[in-house]
Amino acid sequence: MDSNLLENEQSVLTEDSIFHFSCGDDLPCFTQCCRDVNIYLTPYDVLRLRRALKIGSAEFLARYTRHFLERATNIPIVQLEMMPETLQCKLVTTKGCSVYQDRPWACRMYPLDVTGSEGAYQVLAKSERCLGLRERRSLTVAEWLLGQGVTPYVEMERAFHMVMPQGFRPGSDLGAGLGRMLFLAYDLDRFVELLRDIRFREIYEVDEATLHQVQADDEALLRLAFRYIRSQMDELYALPGK
Ligand code: SF4
Ligand code: SF4
Repeated sequence: MDSNLLENEQSVLTEDSIFHFSCGDDLPCFTQCCRDVNIYLTPYDVLRLRRALKIGSAEFLARYTRHFLERATNIPIVQLEMMPETLQCKLVTTKGCSVYQDRPWACRMYPLDVTGSEGAYQVLAKSERCLGLRERRSLTVAEWLLGQGVTPYVEMERAFHMVMPQGFRPGSDLGAGLGRMLFLAYDLDRFVELLRDIRFREIYEVDEATLHQVQADDEALLRLAFRYIRSQMDELYALPGK
C-alpha cells in the first residue's frame, strides 16, 4: 500500500490530521458517489435544497426524499431518494451535482464523516471506489471542512439538537406526537401556515417585527421553528400518550 493510502487508513482523524484527496470530473469514479447512497438530511439541508430548487418544503419532501418516523424512537428520518431504475441521486447530472452550492452536509463532508465524538472524523469512503483518495494532494481535515463550507450546517444542527426535551435519552422513544412535532423543522411550509394565524402568534409571542424578519429570512424562520418546537417539547414529553 502506498503512503497516501496508509495515511488515509488512520481510524480517527482530528482537525489537524492530514489526509490525501482530490476530486474532479476527470476521474473515472466521477458522480459514482451520488449513486446508491444513504444521505440523511438535516432541517438545514432541506431548507438549502428546496430554496436552491425554488420549491416549498412539502414539494421538496414529496419529490426528493423518503421520510418517516423511525419505528423504535419516533425520531424523523429524512433521506435523499435515489431514482428507482438507476439508483442515482435525483439531483445528479452528467456534469455533477445540480445543487452543488447547496448540497447537503453529508455530501460536503464526503469522503470524510463525523464519528459521533466531538472533533473526531473518519475517512468514510474506500479508495477502491473513491479514486480521489489515491491522489497526491494532501490537506488537513480543518482545511477540507473550511473549503466545503460546513460551518452553517454544523451550527444549525447544534441548534436543532437543543430542541430535544429535557431528560430525553438518545435511542429512547420520543413518542409519535413529538416525532411529528420535530418533523415541523423539516417542513417549514407547515410552520408558515401556523404563523399566519394571529391567535398562534399571540400565544407564542411572535411580534410583527419577528414576523417580518422570518418572512424575509428562511434561516430566521428555521430558528423560530426550533424555538417553537422547543417550547412544546418539555411540556408534552412528560404527558402520557405523547
Ligand atoms: S473521487 Fe470520490 S468523491 Fe470524487 S467523484 Fe470519485 S467517488 Fe465521488
Ligand atoms: S445532492 Fe448532489 S452531491 Fe449529494 S448525492 Fe445528490 S447529486 Fe450527489
